Amino acid sequence: MPVSQNNTLKIYNSLSGKKEVFTPITPGYVGMYVCGPTVYSQVHLGNCRTFMSFDMIFRYLKHLGFKVRYVRNITDAGHLENDAEEGEDKIAKKARLEQIEPMEVVQKYTVDFHNILTQFNLLPPSIEPTATGHIIEQIQIIDEIIAKGFAYHINGSVYFDVQKFNETHDYGKLSGRKLEDMLANTRSLTAQDEKKSPQDFALWKKAEPQHIMRWPSQWGDGFPGWHLECTAMSTKYLGKTFDIHGGGMDLKFPHHECEIAQAEATNEVSPVKYWMHANMLTLNGKKMSKSTDNNILPGEIFTGENNIFSKPFTASVVRFFMMQAHYTSILDLSNEALLASEKGHSRLMDALKQLDSVVVGTHTDFDLKSWEDKCYTAMNDDFNTPILIAHLFEGVKEINLLKEGTHQISQADKVHFSAMLKAFVFDILGLKEGEEMATNSHTPALIEMLIKLRKEARDNKDFTTSDAIRDQLLALGIQLKDGAEGTTFSLS
Ligand code: AMP
Ligand code: ZN
Repeated sequence: MPVSQNNTLKIYNSLSGKKEVFTPITPGYVGMYVCGPTVYSQVHLGNCRTFMSFDMIFRYLKHLGFKVRYVRNITDAGHLENDAEEGEDKIAKKARLEQIEPMEVVQKYTVDFHNILTQFNLLPPSIEPTATGHIIEQIQIIDEIIAKGFAYHINGSVYFDVQKFNETHDYGKLSGRKLEDMLANTRSLTAQDEKKSPQDFALWKKAEPQHIMRWPSQWGDGFPGWHLECTAMSTKYLGKTFDIHGGGMDLKFPHHECEIAQAEATNEVSPVKYWMHANMLTLNGKKMSKSTDNNILPGEIFTGENNIFSKPFTASVVRFFMMQAHYTSILDLSNEALLASEKGHSRLMDALKQLDSVVVGTHTDFDLKSWEDKCYTAMNDDFNTPILIAHLFEGVKEINLLKEGTHQISQADKVHFSAMLKAFVFDILGLKEGEEMATNSHTPALIEMLIKLRKEARDNKDFTTSDAIRDQLLALGIQLKDGAEGTTFSLS
């Protein structure tokens, strides 16, 4: 393990409200569950931030040498409009509007989700289960909760009895809410409500005749409640109690509170050791959201086709921008912020390339060991990527001193320094090398400009300059081809 032993990983646990030393249930292994997307529309950049935060966490845990089983689900049924207890299923509604099968909606937006996450260089999870693939498991859990007396069946639907549960357990312990306050602050039930209490939530909903996503059960045709799928899939693949459960801050209540209630009602043990919540990405100071127009799609940033930004930005620059904030802080997206990140990103990438060509000396001036320790201390302090990035820029400063010849570095230290920088930049932060070239929309125009300058040099018989332009472009992966029609180029 590359980390010094006195430097242990601490995680902010939303359940205790404290940073705690991370001790996995089984030494060497980590079980991590993160709530995945509801695949009824394209993922916006806010969703991507949450998944990117947990990707960085997954990457760092793996870097520390843990064997991580990372489960991230796909919600393809049961999530009703406005995250409510009544109303249309989000996927079924989209299918109705587009006049296609619900599973066509699911397929289309699952593929879109994967494509976007690949562009942002996210690693695939170990298991990516779907809600519709686990209906039987969900029905089994409902049976057990009814048998334990914490749920009731009425008119083909089953509801979780929150008040009954709260007599022996603590409903609200994650979100810090008290059931009495919740009851005092919610509207009272109307005559047509089937629930005993407004806080009760659906485990199984009876499917009305027009509801297309339906499954047979002992309570009649219906579909599972949204909170249930995560309990079924997390405990199936990670056990009754597992290490980490993550998701966006907006899922803490009611979704995660209900997950705890369901799991405790079924298994009599608390399901999760460390609850982690990633904070929201805002645009113009307001939460980015699918249901309002306040959002931007990643594709609109990569192509520059939007009214918010002055130019296109690459996926790696956007990822770097996200990593410059701590995952528990709110982050606001703006043109200025992305422009600044782009500058920082290219300074970092340039420095990495330049380190390779630094001439080695007889000794090392830089305190490499203390720099490395500071980088790990930052990451071990609840994955503090902004502090890590500040230390990486100290590394950039050192590379500049080496280039100028003000400082020296030995061969062995140069190899180690380069390996550590690359581990932090590529393996842990997940930035992508050389990506700027291929996707920046200004690149072709810039290459054409250099082709013109090279032609002018050749016309003037300045072959040193013309050859230098050709060779340096080649080193960047851009190959020039001289033909009868002039010079063309290809990107490798
Ligand atoms: P959904 O597909 O709506 O269930 O959301 C998928 C994930 O994205 C959840 O973990 C949400 O908490 C998260 N999320 C939604 N909006 C934002 C946002 N503006 N910033 C960060 N994460 C978000
Ligand atoms: Zn969930």
